[in-house]
Amino acid sequence: MSRAVAEVDLQAIKNNLTLIKGKTSAQVLAVVKADGYGHGLIPVSKAAIEAGADWLGTALLEEAIELRKNGIKVPIIAWLTPCGEDFKEALNLDIDLSISSLEVLTEIVTAGEQLKKLPRVHIEIDTGMSRGGIGDDWKVFALECSRLIKENKIDVVGIWSHFARADEPLEKMSQEQLLVFSNMVNELKSLGIEPKFLHIANSAAALTLKDSHKSIIRWGIGLYGLSPDVNNLGDSKSLKLQPAMKLKAKLNLVKTVKAGATVGYGASAIVTHDTKLGVVAIGYADGIPRNANSSAGVWVAGKRAPLIGRVSMDQFVVDLGATSLAKTGDEVIVFGNGNQNEYTVDEWAKACGTINYEIVTRIGPRVPRIYTRE
Ligand SMILES: *Cc1c(COP(=O)(O)O)cnc(C)c1O
Repeated sequence: MSRAVAEVDLQAIKNNLTLIKGKTSAQVLAVVKADGYGHGLIPVSKAAIEAGADWLGTALLEEAIELRKNGIKVPIIAWLTPCGEDFKEALNLDIDLSISSLEVLTEIVTAGEQLKKLPRVHIEIDTGMSRGGIGDDWKVFALECSRLIKENKIDVVGIWSHFARADEPLEKMSQEQLLVFSNMVNELKSLGIEPKFLHIANSAAALTLKDSHKSIIRWGIGLYGLSPDVNNLGDSKSLKLQPAMKLKAKLNLVKTVKAGATVGYGASAIVTHDTKLGVVAIGYADGIPRNANSSAGVWVAGKRAPLIGRVSMDQFVVDLGATSLAKTGDEVIVFGNGNQNEYTVDEWAKACGTINYEIVTRIGPRVPRIYTRE
């Protein structure tokens, strides 16, 4: 093994897709943006398709292009395509595009005219999150879409939106967003915009809000076996999701230190007892957040060894305990699915004051991905 690897269990990915398929009659779009949430774009996409994903979704156009260049044939949506992107390439590769501004709409229509190809678009509407989606000026936008449909310049295949608080099941904002969504869909319909697909559900809504399923659900974090919100929805185990990524690294060094020794930059930690320290060969340049505290750590020689001191660029130190049998060169588990009592992504997220999404997507390109149970 190289000094650090992320092992990705493709059977877990498939099982997580199968699980949601069994809970919905909607089509399932596997969200594979950000390199498949750090798990690897192409292997994850292929596994998801094998398990029955109907669509793939990316944020960036580059990600969608990469999918087509790898021979992937299912429908793909790219939903974050600012002005100036290569829309001709998108149309040539049959990539669906999201539109939420007249500026982008105009560029896409121009690309379609030049290629004599009908662009397939999904209109994004703002139902309350105020991030993406056509907002206040949506009536002008809708009239323009309606005109372009009549002139056979665009094919509106979808209308979609995004929830702000779907991970809080008791929160009424999701119901309000659903209401705004259906009202806007009806108004668009009256202007002759009647797409085949409506979609608004992310993983949290897919798991908890059946009314939101519409014609497609966008299954993101759940595909990777992680909970959309550990506090409100429960952890992976309680949701029957299987975390797919196991991050491993090597102990670069094991050493004995005396009580009073300080550890790492800023000497921010002091050992209180004679102990053994292990130096783990992975750091913040690999995506281990620098602000992680000692409630995270690694699994080594049959035990948990908590982080001690600050994470450095390429390494961090753990307190192995005086009686540890760990040796220089041993492999440790930084996080895994928790089945061996190793730390989980959720525990690391908590120790860093962030969410599981950020932990996995940040594991950087210096860490090779290897695939198991293909
Ligand atoms: C990332 C993303 C998703 C997936 O969200 P999860 O919470 O990971 O399921 C769905 N839709 C859009 C538009 C997204 O950007």
